[in-house]
Amino acid sequence: MPLRVFLLCFTSSAMKTLPILLHPDPRLKKMCDPVTVFDTALQTFADDMLHTMYEAPGVGLAAPQVGVTKRIFVMDCTTKDEDQIREHKPMVLINPEITWSADETSVYNEGCLSLPDLYEDIERPASVKMRYRDVSGETHEETFEDLWSTCAQHELDHLDGILFIDYLTRMKRNMMTRKMEKYKKDLARG
Ligand SMILES: [Zn+2]
Repeated sequence: MPLRVFLLCFTSSAMKTLPILLHPDPRLKKMCDPVTVFDTALQTFADDMLHTMYEAPGVGLAAPQVGVTKRIFVMDCTTKDEDQIREHKPMVLINPEITWSADETSVYNEGCLSLPDLYEDIERPASVKMRYRDVSGETHEETFEDLWSTCAQHELDHLDGILFIDYLTRMKRNMMTRKMEKYKKDLARG
């Protein structure tokens, strides 16, 4: 299904677009709490997060990025190749933890919805196995590779208050933070 058609289907119910926090923001630096209640409110929140991620558009979004300090993130890396999408795979990962990571690493030019238009090469394990719960509380374990691996690790970092720029040198990080401060000032001015 083409991305646009999929989005129309996916967003036909009363899903909300949640405002995404921009770096620097103290709420992006917090350690998030585990999810303990698996109810309809959690399901609604997960749907809103997926909707917000597709709208952005992005391949991943973590709860602290929308101001909720809970251990939950959503991702769908199929949207990266918009023209060749065969099947979408919206994923919701709750209380995720890495149970195995590969020795081999891979480098991906990462970006983040909380730092629009800023990209840097980040090296991470090329594949990871993650254990997580779904919205109904059921436990799963899955191995992620390629962009899925990068994305899952990037999003899991968010739940520990870590941004991809934290892997860069202090000089580079400060430079990107100053760019974001200016971007936010310009945005506020309209
Ligand atoms: Zn991010």
